[in-house]
Amino acid sequence: MLRCGLGYDIHPLKKGRIFLLGGVEIPALKGELGHSDGDALAHAVCDALLGASGLGDIGELFPPSDPAYRDADSMVLLGYAHEKVKQAGWHLVNLDCVIICEKPKVLPYRDVIRSSMAKALEVTPEQIFLKGKTAEGMGSTGKGKAVEVLALCLLEKHG
Ligand code: MG
Repeated sequence: MLRCGLGYDIHPLKKGRIFLLGGVEIPALKGELGHSDGDALAHAVCDALLGASGLGDIGELFPPSDPAYRDADSMVLLGYAHEKVKQAGWHLVNLDCVIICEKPKVLPYRDVIRSSMAKALEVTPEQIFLKGKTAEGMGSTGKGKAVEVLALCLLEKHG
């Protein structure tokens, strides 16, 4: 059995915050503001995995109203969501992501982010891909005020 799942996330960018994608710290003037550490890639991938497996969404698993998740390491949250997905018998076939932001450029960090995500999801980096895009100056993202991430995953289950 095969199932695909789609995840999306957006976070505002503020000075004094760390810019994180898939647990990788990227040098930048601004970073993601969020209740957790704001790692938009980790959040979008969580929702893709949970959507494909029908196990809920990130807001249900880790409510932003819960102080336990304040400044939480999103890669730990992703690990927890992935564990639930594995326990339900699902395995990740591949993951494809689009990161939309004006700055910083994602391409120089692509392989290190792929490795970080592969380690967290117990797959090879070849099973993970990501692309950086800009919003061509349009909207909040285009004005450098936000980062958006789209994530699409394919899960398989045997028997
Ligand atoms: Mg988020």
